[in-house]
Amino acid sequence: MKAEEDHILISALNQFDYCSRRCYLIYCEGQFLQNEHTVEGSILHARTDIPVEVRRGDTRQFRSVWLYSEKYRLHGRADVIEEKDGKIYPVEIKKGRRGDWKNDQLQLCAQALCLEEMLGCGEIETGYIYYAATGRRQEVKLDSRIRQQTIQTIEKVRQLLSKCEKPPSIYGPRCRGCSLYPVCLPRETAKLIKLQ
Ligand code: SF4
Repeated sequence: MKAEEDHILISALNQFDYCSRRCYLIYCEGQFLQNEHTVEGSILHARTDIPVEVRRGDTRQFRSVWLYSEKYRLHGRADVIEEKDGKIYPVEIKKGRRGDWKNDQLQLCAQALCLEEMLGCGEIETGYIYYAATGRRQEVKLDSRIRQQTIQTIEKVRQLLSKCEKPPSIYGPRCRGCSLYPVCLPRETAKLIKLQ
């Protein structure tokens, strides 16, 4: 990893927790393919990708905010940062339905870690994930457990990207929704290995 690449993207944490091989393919090999899920996600984010400040009642929304942390050597963009009653917190927008997706929660927590450092504020206790399919928000408590998992994931991603060793392809339920299936070919690779 070059010095200027030492800072990792917040979104890499999400990709890594989804699948370490996918993270490798995107950030080490520069592979990216679209499928229906990634296209839907891009369409959904088209509105929040424009930096703007919006007021909604007693809440101020800042869209498409760049975040960074020198402490964790992270950077990336938050979909939405909100401020209400003197409290500030991140809101991550996802296209699907509410679920216990740790990868989305890690991404949200990493945004909070950046915000805390940038603003010099205390711990941000809560963030939200907005699910477009239902129009509902999931509250995520940014407790010590998720913070620890996020910090551990940051280190795992840094190691993966610095070594650039391709993780093995292991077919699982997540492969069905993965846009990189055509370049990864986990089932086909497993069959080939059996034949050898
Ligand atoms: S196809 Fe499966 S193993 Fe390959 S990158 Fe995608 S999720 Fe990972």
